[in-house]
Amino acid sequence: MSDSTIAAIATGLSPSGVGIIRISGDKSQEIIRSLFRLKNGNSLDTFENRKIYYGFIFDGNLCIDEVLTFLMKAPHSFTGEDVVEIQCHGGMLMMNKILGLVLSKGAFTAAPGEFTKRAFLNGRIDLSEAEAVMDVISAQSEYALSNSVKHLNGRLFDIIDSVRKSIIYEIAYIESALDDPEHFDLSDYPSKLKKVTENIIDILSSLSSTFNDGKILSEGINTVILGKPNVGKSSLLNLLCGTQRAIVTDIAGTTRDILSEKITIDGIPLNIYDTAGIHNSEDYVEKIGIDKAFSYAKDADLIIMIVDGSTDISSQDEEIFDFIRKNNKRAVILLNKSDLDQVTSVSQLSSYTDEKIILFSALSEFGLDDFKNYVREIFLSGIVKYNDEIFISNVRQKEALNKSIASLKQVINSIDGSLPEDFYTIDLTDAYDYLGYIIGEQTSEDVIEEIFSKFCVGK
Ligand code: GDP
Repeated sequence: MSDSTIAAIATGLSPSGVGIIRISGDKSQEIIRSLFRLKNGNSLDTFENRKIYYGFIFDGNLCIDEVLTFLMKAPHSFTGEDVVEIQCHGGMLMMNKILGLVLSKGAFTAAPGEFTKRAFLNGRIDLSEAEAVMDVISAQSEYALSNSVKHLNGRLFDIIDSVRKSIIYEIAYIESALDDPEHFDLSDYPSKLKKVTENIIDILSSLSSTFNDGKILSEGINTVILGKPNVGKSSLLNLLCGTQRAIVTDIAGTTRDILSEKITIDGIPLNIYDTAGIHNSEDYVEKIGIDKAFSYAKDADLIIMIVDGSTDISSQDEEIFDFIRKNNKRAVILLNKSDLDQVTSVSQLSSYTDEKIILFSALSEFGLDDFKNYVREIFLSGIVKYNDEIFISNVRQKEALNKSIASLKQVINSIDGSLPEDFYTIDLTDAYDYLGYIIGEQTSEDVIEEIFSKFCVGK
């Protein structure tokens, strides 16, 4: 339990109807008692647990604001300490004024994530739940939000905890048997341990394999728009964003740098990168832009290739088709400008690619629904089938899982090599410890500092 009392503005730092000042620590009650008066002007000697009080915040005899406030007593609060929340008017000046008064009564300004860190250190939540708090706040899509809420409800903790319990059971069994060989028989044990270990490897591997989908869920599908100059790349970006974000001109080669936008299509997050038009250029700056376009496309989850249907297919289009094929990229081809006379047809294009082709017009929005449906289809075919599963989207969690799997594979090697039983316990213990990193049981101070420093203040 920490001995300092901390305080921060818990709501957003912009003018709003209501603002919340949160206080946590031993002095919380004393602080609110010294600042709060009821409507009849009286102060309160004690605040009842979880009762909402209506009244005013006073600075000496000066009334500052009309508020609601309540106390949640330790240990049944978010941080596990005495917590007070003051709901005041949500102007920046007002919130800062009340926070200033709270600090003047002995509270310290909370560091980023310090409330959640205290909840973790006081055993209210495990590390995977603490990280989920952050993910819930920053979730950018319905899907990411629902996954974070599952983590927050302790779903990841439950899986890791049950696997760790079965590992510790095997370690205890081996150690007891080695200590007391008269009462424990280890002759059939290795084959039994092998089955248990394989089963655990399966569970951890399937969790680890959710990482890519989990990352897409939380960070969005990295999508790169590729095409020759003037085919309508910027027009598509603007159409999807609903703004004049990219410059649309009829001068070829206008987009030399990479423009990026985060958009959602029916709740599916996309990070879209509009790139320089692919063409043979002698211009040094343009060449850099074109190289950049291909290098972004190499890392993309999805390529949107645009072809101008009012012109013939050119060698630059062929170059992009080649790139998609060689790099085995998932792509959708938009045959744009379908509102003009068509020189190139869908069937002509299909001889160049096996990817989905959609007849499109960025101008009339023809084909936009088909395009959105296709994005939904490819995204959900990966994600929805795991609908009730949880995803990991955090590199630290993935590394810990993989290290634990590697240690368990070592156990299997030791069994297959008929090594003595104490070899099994060394690797089982490592596997157990690595899993502890995920829930925060074996995590060093530095890592914990690093994790919580990414939080916002007031959380
Ligand atoms: P980019 O160089 O690939 O980014 O192409 P732009 O988006 O700047 O578009 C080039 C030109 O084509 C502009 O004059 C657009 O208005 C025009 N354009 C884009 N999409 C369409 C379309 O679907 N139909 C027609 N008729 N013109 C389009």
